[in-house]
Parts: sequence; structure tokens; C-alpha cells
Amino acid sequence: MTLAPPAVGSSLDALADLVADGDVVVLSGAGLSTDSGIPDYRGATGSLRRHTPMTYQTFTRDPRGRHRYWARSFVGWRQMREARPNDGHRAVGRLQAAGLLGGLITQNVDGLHQAGGATDVFELHGGLDRTVCLGCGDVAGRAALDERLRAANPHFGPRVEEINPDGDAELPDEVLDGFVMVGCLGCGEDLLKPDVVFFGETVPRDRVDACFSLVEQAGTLLVLGSSLTVMSGYRFVLHAAKLGIPVAIVNVGPTRGDGKADVRVDAPLGEVLPALAARLAG
Ligand SMILES: [Zn+2]
Repeated sequence: MTLAPPAVGSSLDALADLVADGDVVVLSGAGLSTDSGIPDYRGATGSLRRHTPMTYQTFTRDPRGRHRYWARSFVGWRQMREARPNDGHRAVGRLQAAGLLGGLITQNVDGLHQAGGATDVFELHGGLDRTVCLGCGDVAGRAALDERLRAANPHFGPRVEEINPDGDAELPDEVLDGFVMVGCLGCGEDLLKPDVVFFGETVPRDRVDACFSLVEQAGTLLVLGSSLTVMSGYRFVLHAAKLGIPVAIVNVGPTRGDGKADVRVDAPLGEVLPALAARLAG
């Protein structure tokens, strides 16, 4: 643990004061899950990543690209499903159990808020634990798909060095092309998609509206582990600021929302959140 400079200590006091007032709505991003072993590709090392994230356009228009996505995802899923909530997730769960948090909006697709005890979680970008069929709309569990994929690919499983936050993995193309994909159980078509919002895809309007409503009822909007690079999350900060709702941001490094923040804590979430929960949630 690094020594906290005085500025962090005083901003932690200010953060605790805001959260103690209750009705806090959390907006969380990839930085909250890095301690769980899920890399943040938009964070400090993001620009060094070899693999660019799948886009919606490639996924829907390029059957080979989709096939390769599923091959990588099949391997990446084994690590993703073993990821566990960290101290930050658990602290959020404790603050909510203490009655201080309303709902949560997360940009993460890993399900770790829920695993860490949180409820009323709006998954802005969907969740990797489900699939949706682009043909018939059938929504199904990813675990069941994994069983079918394992049966269809008993010998497919090269070693993987790392996974991306959207659950796929690095593999050579010739290996990916040997993967056997299965179809939708509803319509039989090869059109399954993880129920997550890809780059280049729009978040469903009703989901966005529900999140805006949540923010409008907030006493404070608390941003955790997001640099707010993409508008899909940043717009909630703009909305809160416009309505005069205090904004607090806990993130390592600068964020796009710093100019809108009433309280800014530049320190690791794994230290700040447990400290906050210890103060306010016993
Ligand atoms: Zn279908």
C-alpha cells in the first residue's frame, strides 16, 4: 500500500460526507474489476494491447469474424467465469446493505457487482452470462452454451496468455478457424451474440432511460473506476452536473469528468472503498 498524500486523505473525508448523506447512485467501470484479474483495456496500459475489441459491424456482417470471436470467447470464458469479486466490489455491497446506495449502473459485463453482494444493478453494456440470438431474439444462459461448445470442441483449448474485458482471448487465426460453433436453440441459426453492447453498437434506449431516471433520483453520483472516455457513461455525469447533483469520482489517473466533479479521489479503489465501507457501514 502506498502512503496517501494529504490531498487523498482530505478528499476521502469529503467523499465520506457525501456518501453518508445516502441515495448514492454508483456508475462503475473497468477499473473496479482490474483487481479481479480482468484487464482494463482503456486504462494506463490499454494502448499497448495487441487485440482490438470486436465491433458490432464486424460481428454482424462478417461470419468469419464472428466465428473467430466465439472461438476466442470459448477459451476466455473459462477464465472469466473463475473471476471473483474483489474488496472494492464487496465494499460497494456493504455500503448498499447499509442503506447508503440506491441503484448501480455498471459499464462492466462481468457480473462481479452482483457476485459481490450488490442488488439493483443496471448493466449498461449487458452481461457476458447470457447470449441473445440476432435471428429470433432468444435469450439464453452462457453456461448452457458453454456445455454445448465443450461437447462440440472436446480438443479445442490452447493455452491463453490473457483475456480482454469482453471475454475473448488471443489465439492464432489457424487455430480459431478449427473451432466448431453451435447454433441457436430457438431457431437453429448461427446468429448467437453475447448479450453485451459491442463497440459501434448503441445501448438500448429503454436501458439508457432507466439509468437516466436513476441518476435523477440520486443524492450523489459516485463514479468508480472509469476514465469516462466513452459517452455512454460520461453522459450520466453531464446529466447529474446539469441537475446540480454532486458528482464524486474515485479513479486512478485523470478522467474526462474531473472538471464536473465535486469530489475527486485519485487512489486505488481496493483501498478507498474498503476504507469508506469501514467508516460508514461498520
Ligand atoms: Zn435464434
